[in-house]
Amino acid sequence: MDHDIDGLLDRMTLDEQVALLAGGDFWHTMPIPRLGVPAMRVTDGPAGARGTRFDGLASMNVPCGTALAATWDPVLVDEIGRLLGREARVKGASVLLAPTVNLHRTPVGGRNFECMSEDPYLTARTTVAFVRGVQLEGVASCIKHFVGNDTEFERMSINSVIDETTMRELYLVPFEAAVREAGVMSVMTGYNRINGPYAADSAELVTTVLRDEWGFDGLVMSDWFGLHSTVEALLAGVDLEMPGPTRHRGRRLVDAVAGGDVDGAVVRERARSVLRFMERLGVLDGQGPADEATSHEPNDTALVRLAGARAMVLLRNEHVGDQPVLPLQLDALRRVAVVGPNAAIGQIMGGGSAHVTPTSVSHPLAALVDRCAASGVEVVHAVGCRIHRRLPELDLQRCGPVTVDYFAESGDLDRLDVPPVRSGTTGTVRLMWASDPLGRGLATPEYGVRLRTELTPDVSGAWQFSLESIAPARVLIDGEVVLDNAASPVGGSFFGTGRGEITASKGLVSGHSVDLVVELRHANTGLGMGGLNLGALAPAVGDLVSDAVDRAASADLSIVIVGTNDDWESEGWDRSSLQLPGDQDELVHRVAAASRSTVVVVNAGSPVTMPWLHEVDAVVMAWFPGQELGHALIDVLTGAVEPQGRLPVTFPASLEETPAFEHHPGRNGTASYLEGRLMGYRWYDTVGREPLFPFGFGLGYAVITIDAACAMGAHTVGVTLSNSSDRDGVEVVQVYAHCVDRAGLAADEPEQRLVGFARVEVPAGATVEAEVTLDPDAYRAWDRDRHEWQQRSALHHLRVGRSSREVAHVLVVQPS
Ligand code: BGC
Repeated sequence: MDHDIDGLLDRMTLDEQVALLAGGDFWHTMPIPRLGVPAMRVTDGPAGARGTRFDGLASMNVPCGTALAATWDPVLVDEIGRLLGREARVKGASVLLAPTVNLHRTPVGGRNFECMSEDPYLTARTTVAFVRGVQLEGVASCIKHFVGNDTEFERMSINSVIDETTMRELYLVPFEAAVREAGVMSVMTGYNRINGPYAADSAELVTTVLRDEWGFDGLVMSDWFGLHSTVEALLAGVDLEMPGPTRHRGRRLVDAVAGGDVDGAVVRERARSVLRFMERLGVLDGQGPADEATSHEPNDTALVRLAGARAMVLLRNEHVGDQPVLPLQLDALRRVAVVGPNAAIGQIMGGGSAHVTPTSVSHPLAALVDRCAASGVEVVHAVGCRIHRRLPELDLQRCGPVTVDYFAESGDLDRLDVPPVRSGTTGTVRLMWASDPLGRGLATPEYGVRLRTELTPDVSGAWQFSLESIAPARVLIDGEVVLDNAASPVGGSFFGTGRGEITASKGLVSGHSVDLVVELRHANTGLGMGGLNLGALAPAVGDLVSDAVDRAASADLSIVIVGTNDDWESEGWDRSSLQLPGDQDELVHRVAAASRSTVVVVNAGSPVTMPWLHEVDAVVMAWFPGQELGHALIDVLTGAVEPQGRLPVTFPASLEETPAFEHHPGRNGTASYLEGRLMGYRWYDTVGREPLFPFGFGLGYAVITIDAACAMGAHTVGVTLSNSSDRDGVEVVQVYAHCVDRAGLAADEPEQRLVGFARVEVPAGATVEAEVTLDPDAYRAWDRDRHEWQQRSALHHLRVGRSSREVAHVLVVQPS
């Protein structure tokens, strides 16, 4: 319904207009009950719609960003977007803080799993589909993080220095497409500085480019605690400071208006933007925050399973005898060894704000055991090695109930005469409170928390315990303080706001229960947010790698499920290496040597190195494919789903051979993007380096060839494909543009750029004709002298093929 927004603004006091410009709490805007303006709820994020609590109600967990991009299938991504839009509604939210559309500048970026690709065009196509899907459900998509927020190093302050051409031709492209093509309703600014000012203070980006040039008419919000000014960000065009309560607006902004530092008309303009946004979403008509629930529908689970399977990339599939090892011929097997740290507990998503509590999880081992049992095949299992960086969460299966007592003040923990204000139990000892857990609405609350449980060890020896928390905390075992982080520096956990992990070991005896207590003193942190993680690890028994090798040697086939987890791939920190963590490389080498045939599944959100590649028979890149991981993996391994994912990111041979290696992570507070436009495959193809696997690569079980290609003008390519196998198959036809006359082009002009792709289904034995529609902007280039786009009319080659390296046909076009 249309509302008289100006009339509403006229009736508001300055204080009320200002109140609209910052959150009320972590996930809501401020209501103005006097005028009937409700609060509006926002929710993370790309992997699911979490709702208002980090440990709250379960949500459907969909494939991560790299997995979605690996489908090269905007139609499927649109469906995932729609699922997420519905999920946001189930959580009573009007805005979904997704997708994450920053680029993979370096393969070690901690949030790469959440982003989509190294390529701006593939990211843009995936983003447009995602945003359209979400917004079709009446929920605003908030793309993030605008812009140059590509790694986690010094993430709250790093100055990303990016030249104008690189910015335009790479990093801004997905944002521009989301605005111009998908009509995205909201944009979140990054934590970083960008060419000097904080992203949220950049009038150049938020007003000149986003609003004026692209015509964005939605809501701009800051990232959480990423707004640093009262006046600059307002003048730059940032509507909403998140989260609340405000730190830079409120009284400070009212005073700034009174002092003449900012015009009241600017406040009114930004408040109008917030109200118009709420009007468009129906919030002003009462569709504000609603009760949160969980939905777990078979259709949604089936979609997540399908998307997860279609995202998986078959990287290698050698013959064993006269057959390729995949798809699995279960009838021919008697015993399968399923080993590796990600087998029994697979990694369905990455860490940080993209984390949700899944509604259910299909783990690889359980899914394989079920599938193999149906074919009479025995499965043996061993973990192979451990890959934690921080100690894993205390295993509550070894504990009695965990009680949690909340005290009004932290000092109450020391007083036997003060009873807790609230008590309950918890099913997790990874706890996080976005606001006052006692519901008193205090901005920077003080409270004490005591957790108590009984741990019964199943192994004798030196157990390790760990503690991370925002405020000071300690762990006591049978009354003895074993961990105390009061003196630990802040900065290592909880998105950089907490005290990093401390560990201690304690000798325990199998079967002898101990009393485990954690006390947290939350006071004077200046943050609404609180949190506590308790980790524990039993001593290892025997040699884990050798155990797995023994199992492998006893089986006809080994499936080794390796990968990372959210200790390694998370918001908050980058990886320092591409190597699989722990002893996983050794595990694969030794299993491959002992096994009759070996299939490796890599369960990670971004590239890893594979020093054992040529020793194994097959490799499947499974990403973090969401909560249906196990089922989706079975579908691909057995051939129920044809492998059709293609790499959305180059897999490097080593970290040293990556485009930004020389310049990452930066120094003295600055990340200089000196590789310029030579990012991802553009670098490998221009400087002539061999990657481990090229961008766009992926095998199928079917055998498909691109028999012919022809240019139908400069923006359409016709292709003929044929499938010589007896399986239905899929090919992702890719078109890369290469500017032939290179005289006068800048040194960082890429050798080629992806300008179009099409996913084509080719039935068994069939020949199929298809068209690849190219990017309407396929030939545009940024003119760095005139600061505007120019259309290139020079001769181009269109390389038509199956990856950035496998070219089947070259067409010559002259764009006009
Ligand atoms: C992240 C955002 C997220 C926000 C709210 C921040 O730490 O950078 O992507 O939406 O938290 O959880």
